[in-house]
Amino acid sequence: MQITHRTETRPVKVGDLVIGGNNEVVVQSMTTTKTEDVEATVQQILRLEEAGCQIVRVACPNMKAANAIPEIKKRIHIPLVVDIHFDYRLALKAIEGGADKIRINPGNIGTQEKVEAVVKAAKEKNIPIRIGVNAGSLEKRILEKYGYPTADGMVESALHHIKILEDLDFYDIIVSMKASDINLAIEAYEKAAESFSYPLHLGITESGTQFAGTIKSAAGLGVLLNKGIGNTIRISLSADPTEEVKVARELLKSFGLASNAATLISCPTCGRIEIDLIKIANEVEEYISKIQAPIKVAVLGCAVNGPGEAREADIGIAGAKGEGLLFRHGEIIRKVPEETMVEELKKEIDAIAEEYKQE
Ligand code: SF4
Repeated sequence: MQITHRTETRPVKVGDLVIGGNNEVVVQSMTTTKTEDVEATVQQILRLEEAGCQIVRVACPNMKAANAIPEIKKRIHIPLVVDIHFDYRLALKAIEGGADKIRINPGNIGTQEKVEAVVKAAKEKNIPIRIGVNAGSLEKRILEKYGYPTADGMVESALHHIKILEDLDFYDIIVSMKASDINLAIEAYEKAAESFSYPLHLGITESGTQFAGTIKSAAGLGVLLNKGIGNTIRISLSADPTEEVKVARELLKSFGLASNAATLISCPTCGRIEIDLIKIANEVEEYISKIQAPIKVAVLGCAVNGPGEAREADIGIAGAKGEGLLFRHGEIIRKVPEETMVEELKKEIDAIAEEYKQE
């Protein structure tokens, strides 16, 4: 599968992943548990891993949370990002505890000594720092200069934080340019992509509930992904974080940017429908969510235009009277009884996934 990357970015290591360079866009999420509740946090991260989350971030608002990092880190399998606001002691504790990346804005840390201490610790552990520019919390002097949050103001803020790190000879930087207004976020990310080559972490902040936030995030981030902008992605939803991962993966798949995920093609149904398509489509979607190969699976309500309409599908099923027609790349391969057609389809999916593994 062709992965589109139009923006040359600096490769930055996060745990055993490399973000930027020629690497695929990486899916992130953030826990909603109290970080100091190790058990709850670990359980949520394990569920996120299963959903396909590749990097997870935890909030670190106090020393109790920072102290929990080593134990959390021991029990999970994906890189751990620790999110800190202002307090450099929390950053030092998180780095010491094994954080794979920290999110802190160096311009907000305080004195030069404190900034230097954090940068030195990050360098020693070879971990990156994410600068999180947020339209809602721009520096006072930038707001005064521009009057209100603008893309130029956000880029100026990012460059200010970047310079603090570069002056200390630190370049393992990732930047996010979040805004709740999608037009502002798009412009800010576009301008950021033109202004520096550090990897960009994409997100539309406070995008809303599962339904509205999914649409808003997909609309905004879709524009950016289409332009090859973005190296990691988080969909921010007021919902269970596994939903964020599902949406992010689906969005990447839509752009052909996920080489390890299967896609479902299903028809909208109409009066020609011969099977309980909506139920089947949902069951197959759930089934393929765990498949780690770029397979296209089609589920169609009838065979009138069916198989031909889904010619690009690696495997599919079209409803007929009391039976299903299994097809590959638009060609019918065999008929199966309605009662067993979903099981037959799953077997075929598994066989194709196995072929990908052998390649
Ligand atoms: Fe209608 Fe058949 Fe097309 Fe589905 S595949 S929309 S049931 S004609």
